[in-house]
Amino acid sequence: RLTTPAVASRQEEALERALRPKQLDEYVGQEKIREQLEIFIQAAKQRQEPLDHVLLFGPPGLGKTTLAQIIAREMGVNLRHTSGPVLERAGDLAALLTNLEPNDVLFIDEIHRLSPVVEEILYPALEDYQIDIMIGEGPAARSVKLDLPPFTLVGATTRAGMLTNPLRDRFGIVSRLEFYTPEELQRIVMRSSGLLEMNLSHDGAMEIARRSRGTPRIANRLLRRVRDYADVKAGGDATRRVADAALTMLDVDSQGLDVMDRKLLLTIIEKFMGGPVGVDNLAAAIGEERDTIEDVLEPYLIQQGYLQRTPRGRMATANAYLHFGLTVASHLGS
Ligand code: ADP
Repeated sequence: RLTTPAVASRQEEALERALRPKQLDEYVGQEKIREQLEIFIQAAKQRQEPLDHVLLFGPPGLGKTTLAQIIAREMGVNLRHTSGPVLERAGDLAALLTNLEPNDVLFIDEIHRLSPVVEEILYPALEDYQIDIMIGEGPAARSVKLDLPPFTLVGATTRAGMLTNPLRDRFGIVSRLEFYTPEELQRIVMRSSGLLEMNLSHDGAMEIARRSRGTPRIANRLLRRVRDYADVKAGGDATRRVADAALTMLDVDSQGLDVMDRKLLLTIIEKFMGGPVGVDNLAAAIGEERDTIEDVLEPYLIQQGYLQRTPRGRMATANAYLHFGLTVASHLGS
């Protein structure tokens, strides 16, 4: 899927790295988080202490990794990057922690997927910069306390609700990333088009911005596809008309909904009479993972007012019917 917010390939990964803002003042949007971090970072630097542990949550592609890298850079320290599922054994985390330099940033992506044994190790590390590790086996085994250099953990997760309470409580700074406005995405896309040396008009950028599900990663991805289209069909000029034609060809509709978004909404409307329908039923009906629905599809559809989450399940809103040229009454045959 073109609008899947996860990174699709190695090539995309390389391009993302090139387009990533490196400093806080290049980071577009998320004003509140930026303002807070600016103060906290400066205070930590003045006191020559590590920044408090930071938890970032929000759907994929909104800039959590980027922000972690910016924090390390602004603090003038190294960043070590890992992820929850990669840290299988307690020793994996212990090795990382004991190799940090003072005030370094350890970034753990998908931190909600840490195994319980690894999470156990993390608690004293976060609180007292200490870990307990077991040396030896059987009756001769003993536990040894190791001191760690002071460090900052930056954890990223798609949903804060999936973290255990003791883990969440150990973060001093908890920030929720919001979807970006079209104007913010327009700025991001204009900046990227400069780095890609392409000829993009302002209204062309706005067309891409409006149709990127509020997500910078998707905006940059659509931008590259528009560039291809412009190069082949329009002598390299990415105007609004060219952007519209490219996005329509890619099946991103005028409101920026893609094939899966439309399938989800139409399934609720047509198969479940508008809902409410439980997320597991919905997942089976559209052939998508429950997690993908909850982490990726739903948040944007809810924010845009197409979908409602109720205690009894998901419901299509009147707006969703309108999007497909339907009305609630005519569809229910009443
Ligand atoms: P996440 O870690 O939340 O999945 P990333 O930090 O990897 O998201 O961001 C994806 C891409 O989107 C980055 O490569 C970057 O180019 C772009 N991006 C994200 N946030 C911003 C922002 N605030 N300003 C400019 N570009 C951004």
